[in-house]
Amino acid sequence: MRIGFIGLGIMGRPMALNLCKAGYELVVFDINEAPVKELAEAGAVVGASSKDVAQMSEIIITMLPNSPHVREVVTGKDGILEGISSGKIVVDMSSIAPLVSQEMAVVLAKVGADFIDAPVSGGEPKAIDGTLAIMVGGKPEVFNRVKDLLEIMGGSVTLVGEVGSGNTTKLANQIIVALNIAAVSEAMTLATKAGVDPGAVYQAIRGGLAGSTVLDAKMPLILKGDFKPGFRIELHIKDLMNALDTAHAIGAPIPLTSSVMEIMQALKVRGKEKDDHGGLIQFYELLADIEVRG
Ligand code: NAD
Repeated sequence: MRIGFIGLGIMGRPMALNLCKAGYELVVFDINEAPVKELAEAGAVVGASSKDVAQMSEIIITMLPNSPHVREVVTGKDGILEGISSGKIVVDMSSIAPLVSQEMAVVLAKVGADFIDAPVSGGEPKAIDGTLAIMVGGKPEVFNRVKDLLEIMGGSVTLVGEVGSGNTTKLANQIIVALNIAAVSEAMTLATKAGVDPGAVYQAIRGGLAGSTVLDAKMPLILKGDFKPGFRIELHIKDLMNALDTAHAIGAPIPLTSSVMEIMQALKVRGKEKDDHGGLIQFYELLADIEVRG
């Protein structure tokens, strides 16, 4: 069975390489030539366009930046829709707006093709290891046809509901992470300004109720002032924008998310949008005129 893979960036490139290593026959496409060449060297066939990939593959995976890119690749000129036929499946693993996932499913259903949304959490290291957390939205019978494939790329693969549910789950994930980073930043800036060593505060609280995966992942880096990405603030802004748009469309106000969004926007104004999202603490450091280091 031929698998198509469109979007070979930070995440897509290692995910596609893992499918090659697992013995799948791959057809790849990206507007950027460098990763396409690398995949060709690993044994993949190179498609001339998204349409071409869709014609040559049974299952087409997309890993693109955001909703407009997915819409373009599926419905645009030389897009998937022009090459796909009945019985094929598009698996979109990008983090996009759930309402756009549903729109893509409707468009593809008109030609008899299926769609599932399967965004991921875990970043580049887990994409390389093939241990991503994959959250899936789609029909159970379609999920069952792609589960083995997703398990090559993921350490956990969970069907959460109908099309769009995968991306709704991803938005929930991104809200929890963003607010958690903001809470850590606010608390640690207070402790530091009060004259207490933030490294000691971290050690004292990490085993209690305030402990979290975010605290353990970000606090050691904050203490060193290391804000190399990781997950860039600009990508988190994109996810929070999708969360706010979705929240407004369905009538579920998310006031804390909008506050953290404005903090991220303020950092972007200061040229920090390429920093890791743990760099959010720099906003608080500026307000309190102090650095949280230890
Ligand atoms: P990226 O920008 O590195 O890669 C996107 C790729 O899509 C690029 O290679 C680009 O050339 C290609 N592309 C864009 N438009 C195209 C088109 N019209 N046709 C063909 N190719 C096209 O992004 P990434 O970091 O790999 O992220 C991909 C998705 O995964 C995003 O939605 C992101 O939010 C999500 N994600 C990223 C991370 C992370 O740590 N980077 C973690 C979890 C989820």
